[in-house]
Amino acid sequence: MATVLAGGRLACLNPLEVQTGELWVEHGLIRGEGDISQAEPVDCSGCLVVPGNACAHTHLYSTLARGMPAPPRAPRNFPEILELVWWRLDRALDEHSIRSSALVGTLDALRSGTTSLVDHHASPEWIDGSLDVLADSIGEAGARSIVCYEVTDRGGPARRDAGLRENERFIRDNARPLARGMVGAHASFTLEDGTLDALASMSGRTGTGVHIHVAEDVFDEEDSLRRSGKRVAGRLQSAGILGDSSIAAHGVHLQPGELETLRSSRTWLVHNCRSNMNNSVGRAPVLHFGARSALGTDGIDGDMFAESRTAYFRAREDSLGAHAEQFTDFLARGAQLVGNAFGLPLGSLQPGAVADVVVLEYEPPTPLTSDNLAWHWMFAFDAGMVRDVMVGGEWVIRNRAFVAVDEEKIRAEAREQARQLWQRMESL
Ligand SMILES: [Zn+2]
Repeated sequence: MATVLAGGRLACLNPLEVQTGELWVEHGLIRGEGDISQAEPVDCSGCLVVPGNACAHTHLYSTLARGMPAPPRAPRNFPEILELVWWRLDRALDEHSIRSSALVGTLDALRSGTTSLVDHHASPEWIDGSLDVLADSIGEAGARSIVCYEVTDRGGPARRDAGLRENERFIRDNARPLARGMVGAHASFTLEDGTLDALASMSGRTGTGVHIHVAEDVFDEEDSLRRSGKRVAGRLQSAGILGDSSIAAHGVHLQPGELETLRSSRTWLVHNCRSNMNNSVGRAPVLHFGARSALGTDGIDGDMFAESRTAYFRAREDSLGAHAEQFTDFLARGAQLVGNAFGLPLGSLQPGAVADVVVLEYEPPTPLTSDNLAWHWMFAFDAGMVRDVMVGGEWVIRNRAFVAVDEEKIRAEAREQARQLWQRMESL
């Protein structure tokens, strides 16, 4: 039976458009209008129906980090943040904590109106099968995902090879309708030349892009110059890592020539504003990221309203030349990035698009039009407005409650898993 979302307004980001009307959904897709007597109506009066947001770079394994004990000493720079915080956390992960962090992190993302997550996973003591646990947990919570294992040389050749195998196995075997795989790689500064070659040839063999951190900190650029005489984008380009299905996360220290290298290779560039602020790595040249760019949270949460608003305000702090529309464009392109990986039309409310939609409760205090939608978004929209969420035509959240999962149980289990994970970290 068709579902019809009636009585509200429909808003799209690409192009920016607000209109009154009904949204018809059947067999997982948005379709043209039909016979109202043959449809299940959902009252959306006082609401705005929008395509689900996509988070184009995240780490669900860090969900259980919230509030964890402080590291043994305060990190003084970005490499120390990795060594003292994140590389202690990821080494303490096991099957249960991977599952629990993915489940509860996905619930939070869905409650924020994020229906697609592009995840970059690491669990060096539990690699084999980790992407299955991750993709199954995200799917069980109800979201769409692209997953990968971040290959690195930091843990030695055995763990490097296990990471390579895990990516290829998942890409080859995965048949989940809501998940896709990518080739994951940590960052240039933890990858030897031979490992970059192995990643590039896997990318070619599987027809799948590489998802990698790029120039997040100046250290990555300095290391690349030492190793190869080239800056990071040049090193990755020479190794065959870049391309139109690859994702470069951060790009904080990219110089104009490197931005051109990424642009000409059509590599996706993902801005993670709040993470950059939190790690004090610098200000990304975000207004020069170009047409193949999107936003991610880098594991802070799954809230793309918060991420887009922060990115907008931080860009405005630097330049009055930054416009709200540039940041709604970033969000629209995130859905396009995910849609490309799935080979499906996402991020639209047009007939034929996949029905990943979110119903927001919003009674604007001023007129809301196609021309000013981006300004309403940046000055008002937040996760608290999310009433209903649909993924692939199935309701995941209705009237602020999860339809198919026991949220309370998942949250209680996450708190217990976090307690055990923090204990294991203390002993590392
Ligand atoms: Zn990251």
